Amino acid sequence: MEPIRNFLRHKKTAVHYYEAEATKIDYEKKIVYINDDSEIKGDVSSTEVPFDMLVVGVGAENATFGIPGVREHSLFLKEVGDAQAIRKRIMDCCETATFKDQSPEEVKRLLHMVVVGGGPTGVEFAGELQDFFEADLRKWIPDISNNFHVTLVEALPNVLPMFSKQLIEYTERTFNEEKITIRTKTMVKNVTDKYIEAESTGPDGKKQMEKIPYGLLVWATGNALRPLVRDLMSQIPAQKDSRRGLAVNEYLVVKGTENIWAVGDCAVANYAPTAQVASQEGAFLARLFNQMAQTESLEDELRALSAEQERAPNQPARDKIFEAYKEVQKRLRRVKQMGPFEYSHQGSLAYIGSEKAVADISWLTGNVATGGTLTYFFWRSAYLSMCFSSEFEHQSLNLVALTNA
Ligand code: NAD
Repeated sequence: MEPIRNFLRHKKTAVHYYEAEATKIDYEKKIVYINDDSEIKGDVSSTEVPFDMLVVGVGAENATFGIPGVREHSLFLKEVGDAQAIRKRIMDCCETATFKDQSPEEVKRLLHMVVVGGGPTGVEFAGELQDFFEADLRKWIPDISNNFHVTLVEALPNVLPMFSKQLIEYTERTFNEEKITIRTKTMVKNVTDKYIEAESTGPDGKKQMEKIPYGLLVWATGNALRPLVRDLMSQIPAQKDSRRGLAVNEYLVVKGTENIWAVGDCAVANYAPTAQVASQEGAFLARLFNQMAQTESLEDELRALSAEQERAPNQPARDKIFEAYKEVQKRLRRVKQMGPFEYSHQGSLAYIGSEKAVADISWLTGNVATGGTLTYFFWRSAYLSMCFSSEFEHQSLNLVALTNA
């Protein structure tokens, strides 16, 4: 997302950036093993990076719960490449559906877009996909208009469990108007290349298995540990009871270590794995490291002053240096006074399609639950302002200028 090279150019400190996958962290040896996974490889494509201090922010991977066929047949929503694959698959489904002499059932299957997981990822994607159909696809390929259909499948009784009841109902109503089908109490148990098998619970409480044919299947059932993180946890005895990720203390230090910090979805600090938490943790760590650097340089200054004092020729000179010493000591005390990480929750926001969003926002003393088009503008501006640095905006503007030219 971020143009890292350009970003680093403007930093005072020398930073080495390697485009690589970290394949293993050796905690005892203090080494990170890295691989060049890109298409073009040189003579060296795997090597080691030794560290004194390490920050782990590798996020999470997609949870599949070991359900057969998910990895082989679904598309996910984590990396930029995933989004490109989804886009390619949608277009292929549309073109194949309009292939000459395709049977009506096959057309229906190919144009059935199924999203599994009714958390914010699944809900936002289903909304965006329906928008894409309404705004573009149906104009580009009118033949698909009557058969293109989005279904959201969720195992629990409702979608967006982290939002208030009123907003859940608003979301379900809006989806209904947008013609997106929500299938709650429906748990996917098996996936094949053309249909999913799900167990649904009817109003009478009876369970039944059914086959749901699909053209596109997007899997959004939450986060799971990355193997790199699981392996690091297995090397640290204090992490043995942690299940969801690297347990960290209030300064984001990985418990059981002194020189490893973790942020974002791979860290467990008792907050939800959201972008909002991750960005605040990132800002906190930046402050913490700046503080550590300042502490180090102030301590050097103190050492230099006391050596100077010893060499001073007379009392007035010694007193003068002592004054300077006290001043630096005061600054050091101030710098060292940094409190632990405290998350400030700005509210939950999710886009639900047709330019509407839902938001549970904490405001002064109370909570505000809102849904609608105004909330959408709030959502868009909050996301645009938080997603990218000014560096990115600058680059995007350049790009726009170039394309316009
Ligand atoms: P999630 O864990 O929030 O939701 C996954 C859903 O999938 C659950 O409701 C679960 O019941 C359902 N599910 C699991 N297995 C299933 C199965 N076999 N069949 C049917 N349904 C099944 O996952 P997410 O939506 O990817 O979100 C992950 C994290 O990222 C959350 O903390 C979320 O808050 C955050 N997030 C936030 C936003 C936002 O704030 N707008 C957007 C995206 C993600």
